[in-house]
Amino acid sequence: MKPTIALVGRPNVGKSTLFNRLTKTRDALVADQPGLTRDRHYGHGKVGGKPYFVVDTGGFEPVVDEGIMVEMARQTLQAVDEADAVIFIVDGRVGVTPQDKLIAQHLRQVGRPVWVAVNKAEGMNQAVVTADFYELGLETPVAVSASHGEGVRELLHEVLSRFDDVEDEPAQDHPKFAVVGRPNVGKSTLVNAILGEERVIAFDQPGTTRDSIFIDFERNQAHYTIIDTAGVRRRGKINETIEKFSVIKTMQAVESANVAVLVLDAMQEVSDQDARLASFILETGRALVVAINKWEAASAEQRDRIKREIARKLAFLEFAKFHYISALSGHGVGDLFKSIDAAYAAAMIKIPTPKLTRVLQLAVERQQPPLSGKVRPKLRYAHQGGTNPPVIVVHGNALEQVPAAYWRYLEHTFIKTFKLQGTPLRVQYKLGA
Ligand code: GDP
Ligand code: GDP
Repeated sequence: MKPTIALVGRPNVGKSTLFNRLTKTRDALVADQPGLTRDRHYGHGKVGGKPYFVVDTGGFEPVVDEGIMVEMARQTLQAVDEADAVIFIVDGRVGVTPQDKLIAQHLRQVGRPVWVAVNKAEGMNQAVVTADFYELGLETPVAVSASHGEGVRELLHEVLSRFDDVEDEPAQDHPKFAVVGRPNVGKSTLVNAILGEERVIAFDQPGTTRDSIFIDFERNQAHYTIIDTAGVRRRGKINETIEKFSVIKTMQAVESANVAVLVLDAMQEVSDQDARLASFILETGRALVVAINKWEAASAEQRDRIKREIARKLAFLEFAKFHYISALSGHGVGDLFKSIDAAYAAAMIKIPTPKLTRVLQLAVERQQPPLSGKVRPKLRYAHQGGTNPPVIVVHGNALEQVPAAYWRYLEHTFIKTFKLQGTPLRVQYKLGA
């Protein structure tokens, strides 16, 4: 699994600035469930071929020993608990503050490597700016400038060197699907409805709070793995939703799966968090099935509303199948498998080069790419560059002149010809050759 790095520090030291530099994602996933005093932002990135998750924990104000600040500290530590490594950000222009010392005290006890990033160090002597911070008793302080990008890559190399290289791809011999969605949409109920009827072969106990449960089962003689992010409900817990819902767990689960089953609640609005989770799934390239749950309990108005909201906020999921189900009664649950199977098959398709090239040539015959100046781009042949998601690589000349609309036309042609429903498709090009 990809390592998760938590960014902590007092307000204004540059956590969000560093977060933005470390993540190239358009939308950070935000944990905005009720009860959190401060949003946490989750994103992902890659440096030197090594991928990672990063979480900006929000604030950390351990000086006030009552009320909201203590709650914030508690929640920050909970986020740290989910992480594999911590970057503690301090302000090189201010020097060590009493708060920094208190935070360091907490961090020395978490049993994870903690790096000290001495920020705002642009134009300053590295040895001088870091000298003060050795007294925090953590890893060697490193001078960085989050806003100028100085020292950040080096720091990240250092952090990631402690972790083994991760295998990015999930196993591809049978469908592995992750059931994901906001708290209370009905994920556990759905997992129970699915497993209630099937033969469970094996499942592993989660090691930590952020681990999903992987359960192997058979259905109609076919082998599946369900990745359960919801886990069992623990009775009598306060803040139960916070305890059992974890953005990191959700992101890891999506990446470990071939197919994501995104669960929405028909009784609730389609929230920003739903949309961000959907765009994260799209970005990873995983196949997708959407289940709108609690359908039996939704009024006619609620049904209309959620359909309108889906059309407006989740229009980019047009490649996926939508199911209206009731996990509670089991209605529509069996049908999900048709779409899971189809999405998996589409994601794993292997198309021989001659066939792809033939489809490409037919598409070009039907509609040529437009002239760019005096040059007509030439699309010669295509080969498949990957699966889950399928990647189609087009070879030819002057391909950089082909407009986006024409690539979309080709994409649609491939989707239609090869019936690629349920998976994103990536069409790329190679110059020359
Ligand atoms: P956060 O509260 O810890 O998330 O801090 P922010 O990322 O919001 O940054 C606080 C302030 O510090 C902002 O005005 C940033 O522009 C500034 N800042 C962040 N990084 C740097 C840096 O590397 N150098 C300088 N000079 N200012 C920085
Ligand atoms: P999770 O947090 O996503 O795992 O959600 P749960 O499976 O724990 O369900 C949250 C609440 O929604 C529980 O009270 C369930 O009984 C209820 N629920 C789940 N599925 C349905 C459904 O299909 N219809 C109705 N009416 N309620 C449901």
